Amino acid sequence: MQRCPVCRAAIKGGPDCRRCRADLSALLKIEQEAENLARQAVRLWAAGAVGAAAEAARNSLALKATPLAEVIRIFAQCGPGDSGKCSVVLFENEDN
Ligand SMILES: [Zn+2]
Repeated sequence: MQRCPVCRAAIKGGPDCRRCRADLSALLKIEQEAENLARQAVRLWAAGAVGAAAEAARNSLALKATPLAEVIRIFAQCGPGDSGKCSVVLFENEDN
């Protein structure tokens, strides 16, 4: 989150918006959890736990849609060693 969802001011530093003083701590916490889940998905996928990686990626996407989590979700569908197939899936998804 780069801008306050209330007043659109750029967010810098603490959990309160410097312009409208909105408390953004809950939103920042959710955003951090989404990032943690995306990182967990990468680790799980690298360890070969494809199903768990896909679940972590889906949970991350439920909190915040990010390109990283979406790529992990797609790769988890393919599984390790299927990079050729994954490339096709990723290429097809560029049109969506
Ligand atoms: Zn604000």
